[in-house]
Amino acid sequence: MDSRFDIVIIGSGLGSLECGLILSKEGYKVCILEQANILGGCLQSFSRKGSVIDTGIHYIGSMDEGKIMRQYFKYFGIYDDLSLQRLDDEFDIIYPGSDSTNSYSYMHGYENFKSYMISHFPGEKNGINIYCDKIKEIGDSINVSVHQSGKFTSGSMEYLSVSASEFIDQCVSDKTLRSVLAGTNVLYGGVKESSNLYHHAMINHSNIEGSYRFIGGTQKVADLFIGKIKENGGEVYNNAKVINIIADGDEVKYVQLADGRRVSGKGFISGIHPALTFNMLSHTPVIKKAYKTRLNYLPNTYGLFSVYMLMPPCEFNYINHNQYFFRNNNVWDSVISSSDKNVKSVMLSTQQSVTDKKYSDVVTLMSPVSSSLFSQWSESSLGRRGEGYESLKKDLASQIIDFSSCFNPDIRNAKCIYTASPLTYQHYTQTPAGSAYGFIKDYKSAMASLLPSKTKMKNLFLTGQNLNVHGALGVTLSAASTCAEFIGEQYLSKKIGNI
Ligand SMILES: Cc1cc2nc3c(=O)[nH]c(=O)nc-3n(C[C@H](O)[C@H](O)[C@H](O)COP(=O)(O)OP(=O)(O)OC[C@H]3O[C@@H](n4cnc5c(N)ncnc54)[C@H](O)[C@@H]3O)c2cc1C
Repeated sequence: MDSRFDIVIIGSGLGSLECGLILSKEGYKVCILEQANILGGCLQSFSRKGSVIDTGIHYIGSMDEGKIMRQYFKYFGIYDDLSLQRLDDEFDIIYPGSDSTNSYSYMHGYENFKSYMISHFPGEKNGINIYCDKIKEIGDSINVSVHQSGKFTSGSMEYLSVSASEFIDQCVSDKTLRSVLAGTNVLYGGVKESSNLYHHAMINHSNIEGSYRFIGGTQKVADLFIGKIKENGGEVYNNAKVINIIADGDEVKYVQLADGRRVSGKGFISGIHPALTFNMLSHTPVIKKAYKTRLNYLPNTYGLFSVYMLMPPCEFNYINHNQYFFRNNNVWDSVISSSDKNVKSVMLSTQQSVTDKKYSDVVTLMSPVSSSLFSQWSESSLGRRGEGYESLKKDLASQIIDFSSCFNPDIRNAKCIYTASPLTYQHYTQTPAGSAYGFIKDYKSAMASLLPSKTKMKNLFLTGQNLNVHGALGVTLSAASTCAEFIGEQYLSKKIGNI
């Protein structure tokens, strides 16, 4: 490993890979350091019995022609190599209660979305229009023409301080419609008391603008990034865990790896959880202890318990949309708590078989779960957590399958089942307690967890899902903002917008 790079990047999640690609395209010599054996963070896929199983990205939005994620992938130079499947016009289906015959769809395109909702809730026409206009306004604040004008965003950040659930309730009064509009809240770690309208709007807007799946495994996306970074002269290392970030005054000098190696650079970008970043930073008067303590105490979102089901070949029809099941009409009451351990909601997503597109070989069921349910095993290591942990996982998996099979009985035919708890995610991504999306962005204290990419260390920058919005879209915009600290916002946003 070369001893001195222009930019050293900690972690190889989507945000880190995007920074590595943007900066290496601009001539910077970058080095990416990943603690795990497999690169990609939440883009990681794993293989079982010949099937590739995705772990942390099941679909992404804003991928139709002219929309912002497609624009970014074109700018990255990997769009033509992606295997993509556009989801059905009815891309998400919400079952807001225990009745499996009662479902409502999210449609691609605002006109379709509005007319579908109005046809099912005609008395709410006015509120549906207000709702759609607002989420479009917020989502459009980062669109391609904004980038062309030399900025990443035209504003709307004030909606970080507005409650998502209160906004929905102000728009419409029908209880079922309220549940339907909040029905994908698992995508933003939804909690009625804290979720903000900005996240709700960004994520729903982007999905309405074209939801797509990656075919053949999200790992391929990580590999495409890595290939490009290497073509640009960058270096990417797995099994390279950073354990110390060594500072001298207000500058980082080098990072130290678990195996003793040192990697120095002119600039450093950390794409991992900010609390972990600052815990590793050696003493410097520039970063106060109180700041580190605050980051460690900021609450993180719940985790997700995932059940991966391998289906027999050519039996389970591929479902080209996602399904959201709820135990009752209150879709905000969705999390398995440590007190009752009951499954209350499940998101079902299928992967298309690469050999026969009609079928699916992998069905994933995900249920929000309080990380505290697993805290007694937090010090144990993967594969050695003991019988109590295994039996809890088994119980949750069978509850999730039983509950989901009321809506989709065919999933009962799975030939093999694997599970991942928040502790599994913590092992593979190091995210504290296996939180799905990092810091909670509570609308009541929006500024407390909104970190800029710039830090008080003059050559240390942050990126990744903790900065602003999580998910592929949020992380991509944050990566661009982080890189703008080196090459300028106007220059970069115009380059992306005009590709
Ligand atoms: C179950 C699940 C499903 C999801 N589904 C979707 C979806 O369908 N669509 C969507 O858009 N988003 C989805 N998300 C969210 C999305 O995956 C994340 O927001 C995003 O990928 C996070 O990217 P990141 O760059 O912040 O880094 P991460 O993916 O969190 O990666 C961080 C990387 O840093 C590494 N690292 C940590 N510490 C160190 C260290 N000390 N030294 C070196 N390396 C280190 C980790 O090993 C990891 O590889 C999902 C998330 C989860 C958990």
